[in-house]
Amino acid sequence: MLLGRRAFIEGLGATAASGAGASRPWPNGAHGAVSLTYDDGLTSHLDVAAPALEARGWRGNFFLTLENMADRVGDWKKVAASGHELCNHTIHHRCDLRPFNPDRYIHNEIVEAQTVFDAQFGKQPRIFAYPCGATNLGLGNANQELHRYTTLLSHAGFMAARTSDGDPMSPAYAWRKRMALNATAPTYEKDSPVEALDYLELALRRGAWAILVFHTLTPGKLDPGDTSIDTHEAILDAIAQRPFWVAPMGEVLEHVRPRALRI
Ligand SMILES: [Zn+2]
Repeated sequence: MLLGRRAFIEGLGATAASGAGASRPWPNGAHGAVSLTYDDGLTSHLDVAAPALEARGWRGNFFLTLENMADRVGDWKKVAASGHELCNHTIHHRCDLRPFNPDRYIHNEIVEAQTVFDAQFGKQPRIFAYPCGATNLGLGNANQELHRYTTLLSHAGFMAARTSDGDPMSPAYAWRKRMALNATAPTYEKDSPVEALDYLELALRRGAWAILVFHTLTPGKLDPGDTSIDTHEAILDAIAQRPFWVAPMGEVLEHVRPRALRI
């Protein structure tokens, strides 16, 4: 009873703290938090992204598809061992979920992938990223589909899931919305740091958590959705120059989890 009341009161406090001028909720007096996330289990994440993060003393989230990671399992194990979070992005990266039975989809694409990840990488946070941002699982309107998807993910043991849209989040908002966390892919439309810098400034102004999403990092010709290594470096440098707490999503979620609910 006491625990429940405390959780309720802390929840209220956290809600109030989401407004402007709230005291800083992040470690070491940081003005905002950033998580750097990389989708699809690509080789440039092993060869470029992980070393770039480690050079700055940071760790990130790598959302793997089983299909893409299979060729370099040994390298991914090293990434896991060095403290990055390796998370679930399904086996086949389906972008249209309408043809699938919801229960079978969750089992065949997500639970099966997680079984392999657990065997290869040991204990990792149960965090999911929706391939293509698609949440159209089963029948009904968009809200019903998302509710079904997040409920099934929760039942499968996931504690959070990331979309690719939406503004930086206050701690209380992020916790409430943890099965459909806001994020942005700031270089997806255009290979430039500008959109990322605007998003980061917004996070600092609001004292919020920014989750950035990247796909292929490349030194050469850019295909749609790719990010040049120069742009990626410029974004990391900009983060380093600002008062951010940089941490992978599992660590940030533990931090925003209401204190009464922490284990
Ligand atoms: Zn993806």
